[in-house]
Amino acid sequence: MATTDIFEKLKKLQTILVKKYDLEKKIEEAPKQLGSQEELLARMKKEYIEKSTEYDSVKSEVLKLKLELEEAEKSRESGEKGMDNIQTHREYEALEKQIKDATEKENEVRREMQKQEKLLEDIKETLKINEDMISAQENDLSASKDSLNKELESYNKELNSLKRSEDKITPDLDQEILFKFQRIIQRNSEGIVAVKNGVCTGCHMILPAQFANTVREGENINFCPYCSRILFYEETDEEEVYDFSFDQAGSLADLADDDPDSEGLDEEEREERLYDDDEIESEEDEGLDEEEEDEEGADDEEESSDDEED
Ligand SMILES: [Zn+2]
Repeated sequence: MATTDIFEKLKKLQTILVKKYDLEKKIEEAPKQLGSQEELLARMKKEYIEKSTEYDSVKSEVLKLKLELEEAEKSRESGEKGMDNIQTHREYEALEKQIKDATEKENEVRREMQKQEKLLEDIKETLKINEDMISAQENDLSASKDSLNKELESYNKELNSLKRSEDKITPDLDQEILFKFQRIIQRNSEGIVAVKNGVCTGCHMILPAQFANTVREGENINFCPYCSRILFYEETDEEEVYDFSFDQAGSLADLADDDPDSEGLDEEEREERLYDDDEIESEEDEGLDEEEEDEEGADDEEESSDDEED
């Protein structure tokens, strides 16, 4: 498959994968929406249990007071009955004290009972309110779960259709490239980007000139050495302006045309190259005299015989 076709497929796949990963993230995070509602419900239930425990303990306190009251009543009544049969002043005094103590106890227990019964009523009221709140919260949560399920259902439907589109493209692609491509998109949301004026538009780094040229030739799939994205070359208007300026510079532009390696180099580097070329030329111009040429030839022979020995 031509590189340009691969690029086209990767671009199409990129659109699909970006949507797919976005959906997968939404599906993963959707249940978290219920987190605060579930927390609130759990807190309400915990409070309800604590209140119920309190209710039980007050209720048993009230029962205990009832028994104490009955005892005090019995004691008072038996004292009152005894009054009918007293024979001595001493017996009278003892019974009078019994009745007085029992009556005091009765009053004290009644007061305490009233207090506890009032408390019991208050707790009962709170429990009723809590029950209603819990039930409302449970309804809310259940409604949220329903809408969440609908949301998830539509996400999954979309996801499946994206996966079908993905499956139409992926079998044509090199599996190793595909794997790298998917990883980059998961991290950066863009896995294939243009190179413009020798700059990777994914990470905005200036690419090595030689490498930018390789990308421009477009014979292979190349990855940005800085951000790992797949690169394709895109000519720009700016690039034309850039070239034009070198046309003005004359010989420099000519050199750039002849020597693709020098493209993308800055002025200083170009001049250095120019200077190096001149030096080689001047050495050639001077030429070697015949003697030297002979010697060189002899050296060559020696070298080649050395090679044979090896
Ligand atoms: Zn890059």
